[in-house]
Parts: sequence; structure tokens; C-alpha cells
Amino acid sequence: MDTKPIWIDKSLMIDFPQLNDDLQVDVAVIGAGITGITTAEQLKRRGLKVAVLESRAVGKGTSGQSTGNLYTVTEYPNYEIEEKYDLDTVKQVVQSRKVALEYITEKINQLNIDCDFREQSMYIFENDGSIDFEKEKIIAQKTGLPCSALKNGKVPFNFNEGIEYTNQAQFNPLLYVQHLAKSIHDETCSIYENSRVLEIDEKDEHIRLKTESATVTANRVVHATHTPMGLHIQYHTTLGPYREYGIGVKLRNHIYPEGIFWGHFENKKYSVRTYTIDGEPYLLCIGSMHKVGQAKDNKAHIQELETFVRNHFEVERITHQWGGQNYKSADLLPYIGQKSAGSNQYIATGFSTAGLIYGTLAGMLLADEISGTENPFSELYKASRHQPLKAANKFAKENLNVAAQMIKDFTFPGFDSKDLGVEMGEGKVMQVDGKKLAVYKDKVGKVTALSAICPHMGCTVHWNNAEESWDCPCHGSRFDISGSVIEGPAFHGLERTKSSI
Ligand SMILES: Cc1cc2nc3c(=O)[nH]c(=O)nc-3n(C[C@H](O)[C@H](O)[C@H](O)COP(=O)(O)OP(=O)(O)OC[C@H]3O[C@@H](n4cnc5c(N)ncnc54)[C@H](O)[C@@H]3O)c2cc1C
Repeated sequence: MDTKPIWIDKSLMIDFPQLNDDLQVDVAVIGAGITGITTAEQLKRRGLKVAVLESRAVGKGTSGQSTGNLYTVTEYPNYEIEEKYDLDTVKQVVQSRKVALEYITEKINQLNIDCDFREQSMYIFENDGSIDFEKEKIIAQKTGLPCSALKNGKVPFNFNEGIEYTNQAQFNPLLYVQHLAKSIHDETCSIYENSRVLEIDEKDEHIRLKTESATVTANRVVHATHTPMGLHIQYHTTLGPYREYGIGVKLRNHIYPEGIFWGHFENKKYSVRTYTIDGEPYLLCIGSMHKVGQAKDNKAHIQELETFVRNHFEVERITHQWGGQNYKSADLLPYIGQKSAGSNQYIATGFSTAGLIYGTLAGMLLADEISGTENPFSELYKASRHQPLKAANKFAKENLNVAAQMIKDFTFPGFDSKDLGVEMGEGKVMQVDGKKLAVYKDKVGKVTALSAICPHMGCTVHWNNAEESWDCPCHGSRFDISGSVIEGPAFHGLERTKSSI
């Protein structure tokens, strides 16, 4: 089985250079996902000199791990947003997301991007009473969203109630980002891969970004890294990092449903769609979310997806499996804009499961803000907004959870290496010589011992047995078995230790 997202099977074989020489630009964008590449496209269009620094490969972060669905609604029912805010806020969310979807459609047409884009209906339904569709329909009508009550037979699932939204869309997210990046890469907008930003130094009006081999000096910096890099207490304490999984499946009866399907079953949400490569259709199922670093058994989450698909379809075989991360904001809306008053750093985060559109919107909003152009939606998403009442419940819940993790891990001494062995292909946190170590034994018995303390804010990492990584339960940093950063806010990897096991 392929342990990479399905999109990689149909993507461009394209490489961008590594940054080796110092550079001076108007704006440096950190991260080349949908947010970073859209931001760069928009800034370049406004005549600014831009550099995009990507630690790995263009589009292969969360954008290339997503489901590739484009919807003007979000994961939260619109009536929940209305209850927290008001109808005007819902209208703005829907309208701004529509504008971003139009941008994607326009770009695809203008550049003739072949990324399997197609208009689709979106079907949301439940058998657990978790959504009030009557309320949802009323709000949809008031906000001008084209929708109707979902009729039996339209989706390959049994459900109580549901809604159909027309004029939504699907694409291959990785192909889209790669093509967009290719179209903007030149001497005024240079994109670099394998160029991780290790330090951000903001002393005067210039900001210096250090990679392993060079320094970029910029007037403005955009953190298009899904979650801001480094210590940003006001954001990291309001963002909940969640991990979810995807599987690709071949079906025995070759009947593959067309559409965007969001089913709520027994208080769990599953997203299902079809994607075809070279005439071969695959069913994709995404879900089984948990907080990063807090699953007892990550493999069980992938198994849960498989069981769900087997209960509803005739499965021939599972072809792909992968994981990806979401950051949920405390007040249901993403944070997009200047990091704080007077700062030359900008952030775009808290997209939850709606970031292909929100990331695109962020690119448009940030470019407007940086170039001093008014945008009717800037205020709504303003990163430095302060909404203690709107964020209070989730803020308290997320931070109690982080505090509980810290206390649990602080008082948990780790397994004693003398008492408990590590199986081949397994990782375990152990107490050795008074230090907490993240110990991994590979498939031929070679042991790697790293410090188990996350360099971001000092929490203890946990073993992820499905993706073979060390995941931090506090703010979502993840590290590979050699300790290198995979994703999350940490700049640096887990320290290598000299302790002998
Ligand atoms: C399983 C799953 C399914 C989803 N499905 C959908 C969907 O169908 N529709 C939807 O709208 N949303 C979906 N989402 C959410 C959406 O994918 C994300 O919100 C969105 O892709 C975020 O884009 P981004 O560009 O901000 O982040 P990313 O795509 O993660 O890009 C950030 C980039 O920054 C780079 N980076 C990080 N640190 C550094 C550093 N120090 N130096 C240099 N580069 C760095 C990373 O390598 C990465 O490439 C899904 C999410 C998941 C997990």
C-alpha cells in the first residue's frame, strides 16, 4: 500500500532550486503551500519582488495531503457562526470564500491548468442528529447559497436528513499549487525548495531569514507555514492542532459516487469523494480526527476509516493511506493579517478543514494589506483581533487540554529502559539517566535516541505508530525518526543524545 497521498501519483516532476546565495526582496514568503504560492502570485502581480522559501517541496505539505474539495461553506454549520456572531458575518464568510473560489477558477482557466478541476455538488448529511438542517437551510437562503433538501438516492449512504449545495468544486490540489508556482517563478518571484527557515531576526525595519546556506533580507515576511513559526503565544494558545487521515480504495463493483460527501455518523465526520488517474477511479475517505500527539494508537484511526468504507462499499483493496494536520481557531474564523500592530510579519492560520479556499483568500488579503489596498474582508479575519467572549469556550478547552498534557507528561517518568524493551519498528519515550528520551528501533534493530522534549515549548513528544513520527501534543510540531522537523511551529529538530540504550 502507498503511504503517500494519492495526489502524488498524478503530479508534476518539477524541482525548484535550493537557496544558496543571500538575497534582498520586498517580501519573503515562508512556505509554498496554497497560501504561500497564492500570496506570492498576488504580490508579484502588484510589482513587488518576492522570494518563497519552502523547507521541503512545493505543494507537498498539508495542501497536498488534503481532499481537494472546494466549498463556500466551512466545517461549521452556518447557524453556529450566526449564533456566535450574526447573519452579516455568515454572509461575509460565504461571500469571501466565493471570491476565493472564483480566483481559483479564473487562474485555472487563464493558465490552462490541467488539475482535474470540475464543478460538483456538495452533500452534507447525518444519522446522528448532530446538524439542524432546517436552521441550516434558512441561513443558506438568507445568504444566497444555492441549496436544497437532500433527497434519498442522491448519495450512497443511509441518512436522516441532509442538504445539497450546488456550484461547489473539486480538483487535484497538488497539481494546482505546482502549476501556479511554475507560472510565477522568475527573477522577480523566486521559489526555493529544501530551504528551511531556521531563524527570523527582526531587529530594525528589515527582517533577516536564515536558512542553512543563506540569508534573505526582506521588508515584510509572510508566515504561510500553516501555523506561525516560532513562539507566538497569542496564536499558539488559541489554535488547536488536529490530525486526520485519508485512504484510497478500489471498489469491487466499480461504482464510484460523484460529488463531495460529508457524512456525520455516530458523532464522527467522514468526507468521501472519487478521484480518477489514467482512467482508474479511486474512492477517497478522509476523517477520524484526533488531537496531534494524543492518539493511543494512530493505526486504529486508519483502521476506523477502513471499517467505515467496508460498511458502505464493496472494497477490493486499500491502495493509499496518509495523514494530515489542521489548526482550529478558538472563534471559528481563521487569523489572517499583520501579526500585531506595527509588525512587518504577517500570518495566515486557523483554517481548520477549509484551508484550500481560506489559504487562497489569505493570499489575496495579505497582498492587499502589504500593498496598502483596502479589502472589504480584512477586518473580519484580522489576525490581531481580540474576541475573548467569542473564543472563550474553545480557548479554555484547548488550553486545559495542553495543560493536562504537560502535567501528565511531566509526572510520567517514562518507561524504564531496563524494564521495557522497544520492538523493531517501534518508538517509545523512556527515562534514561534522568532524561526523557524518544527511542526508536528500526526494522533491522538500529536504535536512535533523541531528546523527547519538543524544542518549541518544552512538551514531551509522543510516538505516532501509523506515520512513524514523534508528535507534540501541545502545539502540533512533528519530527521524523531522525529528529528533523516535519511540520508545526518548532524551528529546530529533537536534540540527538549521547545516552547509550
Ligand atoms: C486530510 C485533510 C484533508 C483536507 N481537505 C480539505 C479540503 O478538501 N478542502 C479544503 O478547503 N481544505 C482541506 N483541508 C485543509 C487544507 O488542506 C489546509 O488548510 C491548507 O492546505 C493549508 O494550506 P497552507 O498553504 O496554509 O499550508 P501547507 O500546505 O501545509 O503549506 C505550508 C508549507 O510551509 C512549509 N514550511 C513549514 N515550516 C517551514 C519553514 N521553517 N521554512 C520553510 N518552509 C516551511 C511546509 O513544508 C509546507 O509546504 C484538509 C486538511 C487535511 C489535513
